Amino acid sequence: MYVPMKKILDHAAENNYAVIAANGIDLEMVRALITAADAKKAPLIIIIGGLQMARLANPELLVPVVKKLAGETASPIALCLDHGRDFSKAAYAVRHGFSSIMIDASSKSIDENVALTRKVVDLCHPLGISVEGELGHVGIAASLDGRDESLFTQPEQAAWFAQTTEVDCLAIAAGTAHGKYPAGYIPRINFDLIKRVKDATHNMPIALHGSSDSGDENIIKAVQAGINKINVATDLQMACKTGIQNALVKNPDVDYLTLMQHAEFACRSLLKHWIDLSGSAGQGALIEPSYNLASLLGDFDLSIIGE
Ligand SMILES: [Zn+2]
Repeated sequence: MYVPMKKILDHAAENNYAVIAANGIDLEMVRALITAADAKKAPLIIIIGGLQMARLANPELLVPVVKKLAGETASPIALCLDHGRDFSKAAYAVRHGFSSIMIDASSKSIDENVALTRKVVDLCHPLGISVEGELGHVGIAASLDGRDESLFTQPEQAAWFAQTTEVDCLAIAAGTAHGKYPAGYIPRINFDLIKRVKDATHNMPIALHGSSDSGDENIIKAVQAGINKINVATDLQMACKTGIQNALVKNPDVDYLTLMQHAEFACRSLLKHWIDLSGSAGQGALIEPSYNLASLLGDFDLSIIGE
C-alpha cells in the first residue's frame, strides 16, 4: 500500500526500530526495492533526489510505477523527495504524487531553514503528505565532512526546530556523510548525540543520512540509539553496478535483458540485508492499513500551488 512516511515512521519510533529509505531511480531499482520489502514484510520509504529527477528518474514516468507496485503489496511503501532544496522543487514533487517531502534548508541560516521548512509543512500537511526537515548539516563523505562537529545537530535547537516547523521527521548530523568514504575509513557516529536529540524531541522520528558505507555495527548501534529512518543511496547504486560488472566478467556477450536482471537481483539482495539491520522485517504487517493517501487528498485544489 502507498502511504505517507509519517504512517511508517511513527510506528517505527513507537516500537524502537528503523525503516530503510532506499534510493530508487529506475524501474529495475524500484521493483527490486518493493519486492524486497514485500518478501521481508517490511515498511519501506523510496527516495528520489531532485537532480536524479532531472536526469533519469522522471517523476511522470516513475511515480506511477511506484504507486502501482506499492498497491500490490501489503507492506506500507512511501515515496519521498530527497533533499528538496527549495519550495518549487517540493511543490513539483507534491504535484507529481510523492507521498512525502524532505525539505533541506540546512545550509541556510537557522531562520531561513525554519521559514522554508514551515512553508513546505503548510503546503503538505493539508494534503496528508509528510515532511522531513534537516537541522545540522550532513555533508560529503569524500571530504570527511562527518568529522566536522560544528555541523552536528544540537539537541535543544532540534527540539525548538521540530516544535516550530511541525515536521514529521528530522534529519540530524551525528557523524555520517553522503557518498563513499575514503578507502578504509569508517565514520565515527556520535550515538550519545542521537540519544540526546531523541530525548529532547520527545521520541520524534529522526533520520540518519549518509548511511551507505558506514559499517553494519554502526548502523545497528544507531538504531539502538534512536534512529528511525536510514537513508541508503550509494550502496544500492553500487550493488547494481557490481551486479552488471560481475555478469560482464562472467560472460562478455551477455544480453542486455540478463544484464539488467543482474542489477535488479543485486539491489534486491542488498536491500534485504539493510532491512535486517534496521529491525523493520515483519513490521509492515503490524502497521494498520487504514491510512490511505488517496482518500486524504480529498478535493484539495492542487492548482493553488501555482507550479
Ligand atoms: Zn541525505
